Amino acid sequence: MIVYLNGEFLDAHDAKISPFDRGFLFGDGVYEVCAVYQRHLYEWAAHCRRLFLSLQRVHLSLGYSEQQLADIAHQLLEKNGFENATVYLQISRGAVIGKRDHFYTPGLVPTIFAYANPWPEAMLEQRPTLKVITLADQRWQRGQIKSVNLLANTEARQQVHAQQLDEAILTRGDEVVEGTSSNVLLVKDGSVITPPEQPYMLTGITRQVLRRLANENGLPFIERRVSVNELNDADEIWITSTVRELRLVSELNGKAMPTNAPVFERMREWFNADKCRAIANDK
Ligand code: PLP
Repeated sequence: MIVYLNGEFLDAHDAKISPFDRGFLFGDGVYEVCAVYQRHLYEWAAHCRRLFLSLQRVHLSLGYSEQQLADIAHQLLEKNGFENATVYLQISRGAVIGKRDHFYTPGLVPTIFAYANPWPEAMLEQRPTLKVITLADQRWQRGQIKSVNLLANTEARQQVHAQQLDEAILTRGDEVVEGTSSNVLLVKDGSVITPPEQPYMLTGITRQVLRRLANENGLPFIERRVSVNELNDADEIWITSTVRELRLVSELNGKAMPTNAPVFERMREWFNADKCRAIANDK
């Protein structure tokens, strides 16, 4: 596999960074993941906007434009021969060799790493449903930053995995926040309801796409606080992310959810049509 590291395309085995990199020592870095369909970088502008915001929020400057990042992504796809993939892009603050200070000094050279992960055809077609549980959100208050520091997420996800489940919906008190690596939307009486943007939740790009599609198609899309009771009482629960796209929850905390999900089916059709439109416009 060919990866990108600090201006070079290298075999993955030859890609090396310093153990003093602050990404390694402190989790001091941010990342993005974008979906690629038939070489089209889906919602690239939105992903770059969010990346630039994450960088700004942690006082990191990259010095690459949206177009330069797209060139890197395209070259990764080209060099690896991938058509359908996800592109992972990470920027960490860089290294001060021989030093481990919590504070950072200006002038560090950020480490920029990117690779593409092929997406099997089957993944693009499938419609498996997800089994989820609720767990208390133990992450920090600044989840809007797509930070590589993901310990609380990975711990929660490990708990889920050990129970052979798919995702945890994180809650703060009585409030539903999001999944460990996804957003959560529910359907009640024909309306889509999802927690609003807030500092401790990642503003998902997939969630934004669904909001646009709902608006275009006249489906009520309400952003407001969602209680755990409402989640338990939902007609449908959806999980969204770049990697998982739009998925239906079939089981919540061991309780089966209705399998008839007409709003989900409609949204899935709109979503697939949107991807096809984006691919066609890029040709
Ligand atoms: N929330 C969290 C914590 C995530 O890590 C992710 C994606 O990885 C999402 C939400 C969904 O965001 P997106 O749709 O942009 O992939």
